[in-house]
Amino acid sequence: MRSWQLTREGYIPEDEGYREALFTLGNGYFATRGAAPECAADDVHYPGCYLAGGYNRLQTEMAGRIIENEDLVNLPNWLPLKVRVDGESWFHVDQAELRDYCQRLDTQRGVFERDLSFVDAQGRVTRLAERRLVHMRAPHLAAIALDVTAENWSGTLEVAAALDGSVVNANVARYKKLASRHLVPVASESQDERLFLRMRTSQSALEVAQAARTRIYRGDELVESVWISETRPDHAAIRTKLQVERGETIRIEKIVALYTSRDRGLSEPGLAARETVDRVPRYAALLIGHELAWQQLWRRFGTDWKLADGLDDDHVQLVVKLHVFHLLQSVSMNTEDLDVGVPARGWHGEGYRGHIFWDELFIFPLLNLRIPEITRALLTYRARRLQRARRNAEEAGLRGAMFPWQSGSDGREETQQVHLNPESGHWLPDHSSLQRHVNIAIAYNIWQYHEVTYDQEFLAYQGAETFLEIARFLASLTTYDEAEDRYEIRGVMGPDEYHEGYPDRDEPGLDNNIYTNVMTVWVLERAQALLAYLSQHRRTELRAMLALSDEELAEWDRISRRMRVVFHRDGILSQFEGYEDLEEFDWDGYRERYGNIQRLDRILEAEGDTPNRYKLSKQSDVLMLFYLLSAEELKGLFTRLGYEFDPESIVDNVDYYLKRTSHGSSLSRVVHAWVLARSDRPRSWQLFQEALMADLDDSQKGTTAEGIHLGAMAGSVDIMQRGYTGIETRGGVLRFNPALPDGLVELSMRLRYQRHLLMLDVGQNHLRLRSLKTDAGPIIVQVRDQAFSLSGGETLECEF
Ligand code: BGC
Repeated sequence: MRSWQLTREGYIPEDEGYREALFTLGNGYFATRGAAPECAADDVHYPGCYLAGGYNRLQTEMAGRIIENEDLVNLPNWLPLKVRVDGESWFHVDQAELRDYCQRLDTQRGVFERDLSFVDAQGRVTRLAERRLVHMRAPHLAAIALDVTAENWSGTLEVAAALDGSVVNANVARYKKLASRHLVPVASESQDERLFLRMRTSQSALEVAQAARTRIYRGDELVESVWISETRPDHAAIRTKLQVERGETIRIEKIVALYTSRDRGLSEPGLAARETVDRVPRYAALLIGHELAWQQLWRRFGTDWKLADGLDDDHVQLVVKLHVFHLLQSVSMNTEDLDVGVPARGWHGEGYRGHIFWDELFIFPLLNLRIPEITRALLTYRARRLQRARRNAEEAGLRGAMFPWQSGSDGREETQQVHLNPESGHWLPDHSSLQRHVNIAIAYNIWQYHEVTYDQEFLAYQGAETFLEIARFLASLTTYDEAEDRYEIRGVMGPDEYHEGYPDRDEPGLDNNIYTNVMTVWVLERAQALLAYLSQHRRTELRAMLALSDEELAEWDRISRRMRVVFHRDGILSQFEGYEDLEEFDWDGYRERYGNIQRLDRILEAEGDTPNRYKLSKQSDVLMLFYLLSAEELKGLFTRLGYEFDPESIVDNVDYYLKRTSHGSSLSRVVHAWVLARSDRPRSWQLFQEALMADLDDSQKGTTAEGIHLGAMAGSVDIMQRGYTGIETRGGVLRFNPALPDGLVELSMRLRYQRHLLMLDVGQNHLRLRSLKTDAGPIIVQVRDQAFSLSGGETLECEF
């Protein structure tokens, strides 16, 4: 029996924020946290609702300085639905005497369920059973069905429903001092069973319209209700009363439509929302289409596996499903037509303000091999901001296109200028935007998408132009050291955010960060291959458009052969120049003093110290190279650069950096589990299990309530799917190098690759790959060092 349901029994106020994030429902167009429908935002509850890419900018004056942030806007809360018995107070989970309480997320059907019963001062017991969906097929629709049972009483039941636009952004305690009111009321209305609310964001002028229809049923019969309306400019509400008999169950259905001024194919969002709820069927009918959409998604994204006897299969099954579920709730087919990127924290909370980072590097592989149309849309989000990226580069005195570390609506740098250390209460300058490597991730993703799909049209147009402008930018970051005859990159940050600079240097940034340098070589080498790959016609067009001269290409080639890589004296790859001279960190002492030391940046700053002084990292930059590039590819790059690289040394490097990593980023364990998959399977399996628990255990201590960690969620599933099967898409070949951990007996999944639909089964010593009939030509498959050609309708069986 495979487990699909995440269940939490009992009501625990301290857990509520975390549960709301994990019980969020979304469809790639909008998302709503799994909050109680009777609760407004307070210290315990936070019913956030977010539109994919729905941002707004606000300014705040802080210590005489104006700072500006662009935030994912918390939209009007469509959930409010509450009941009370005979004029008592309205049921509220914090005030009621609960008899039982259970929340359940059914990841197979995409339904959130909440079952509870409570008893009032008169001994009356009432049972509430809520079912909720955010429609996967009809992305503008969401619905609640609430069954109310009068267990031991007869009397009057009062029902109230609302659309609440009085909300502000208040999910993240650290942002509390910053301006938070993003919405301005435009119109509100309630009439009979209908509610209508229209608000506008204060700066981005995004109009959001919600309409709701609330009806009460006895079985199949609609209860004729007289609704009283109570409406304020930012709040539309109705309530009604009905007589309920002992033992009877009545059903309340609230169905909501949400449209915005960005939607296409309509005249205006208000009319669209109203007309939609006018015609919408009942909850049960909506559920059918919703379940079907999820069923189809699971056919594409499902993975099956057998674990060795004695291992907790159901648990791993559930968590893997939960991760895929949240990924697809954040980006889905409904995202294809939108202009959005993939948010680091899902559309599940306000952590990181809904911004787009490099995390797509960990997310796209899962999408590429299943619904690459989604990846294409997400890459288009970047390509549309190419012009702005060019401006970013120009303003920094560089060339080409510089995409921002944190991206929002228009592609300018959205990284906050100052951040709060909650441990010390200090506001500190934020240098993380020096992570120029986000550009490498974008280029890498364009290439990977191409390898999987052979989508010539995307590559030739948006893809190539973006890629080449990134290559130009990276080349412009380098400086030439004549004495060494080496190119260098100075003053940047690598993925390890605990190192922002040198302890004895005033300006931030590090020199010769290995990840940035080596991957720049990869991009520059690929840029040349990409140009050679394009048709002569398109190449000529692009080179003319971008004024890409022979001299510039020759310079890229030189850089890609003479970039500097720093090694430690014993041959370990150095995270950056000078890392070797930093002090060793007292790991045991700090663990003893603080227990959880993941956020060493905060701990050390609060002590008046800085991580810049130590050999420690939030996540390891060196290991990122092994994560992205196969040993073979890396050896090729080092040879090109004139350095020795022995793939056997990977193990020593992993060992060295694993000892010095606090896993302060949820991405860290994903990378470690991945790179250990071949050298130390038991340890890899252990880290994989820990990576799986990142959000379920809230291992970043409190941050899940501010949104899930989508990179870690997708990345951990990808360890199982690509990591252990050793899937690599390179050079037009689909490669497998399976190394299942001992606990894993067999893995099965479906893949899409170059217009083939493939059924894959991998065991400890065998691989079976079936291609369904297709009109696409044969593909080249390599299993370890054996190459095969596979046509549609054929099956490949292989022992190793
Ligand atoms: C990590 C980054 C990541 C960001 C968003 C940070 O904590 O260090 O690598 O991109 O979170 O997930």
